[in-house]
Amino acid sequence: MASPEPVLAELYREILLDHYRSPRNRGTLDGRATHRSEGANPLCGDELVLELAVETGRVTEVAFLGRGCAISQASASMMTIYLRDRTAAEALEAVWCFQQLMLSGTALPEEFGDIEALAGVAKFPVRVKCASLAWKTLEQALSSDGVATVSTDEGS
Ligand code: ZN
Repeated sequence: MASPEPVLAELYREILLDHYRSPRNRGTLDGRATHRSEGANPLCGDELVLELAVETGRVTEVAFLGRGCAISQASASMMTIYLRDRTAAEALEAVWCFQQLMLSGTALPEEFGDIEALAGVAKFPVRVKCASLAWKTLEQALSSDGVATVSTDEGS
């Protein structure tokens, strides 16, 4: 994949820093969560707790708490924006799309919006684990009931 042109790279950097400094949907669902998962990327020290409220197959509420690098936290913030009002099936499909972006640089569908700003991360395998943390945590949350834990630092 070719590097984004400098202007685009700068725009992407600004988007990521904005989400890092002002994370969207940060917090908890105060017991309203139907799905909850904890994720960690020990390699970088990123941690994430994701809570979802799913009603009749649709994500009605989503919140996350986390700490770690800008890429991991911005990825989580942008993901929560995407998830609102998506069906669980759409959310899992989004996980797949995001993995394709990270693995092969396959462009995301337009509805992913700002998430495209993470495209440049695909060139750096260590950072891919940071960017993927939120999505793996999401996949884990939707694939199980109750509390689940996941780590992005398992082989590669
Ligand atoms: Zn990280």
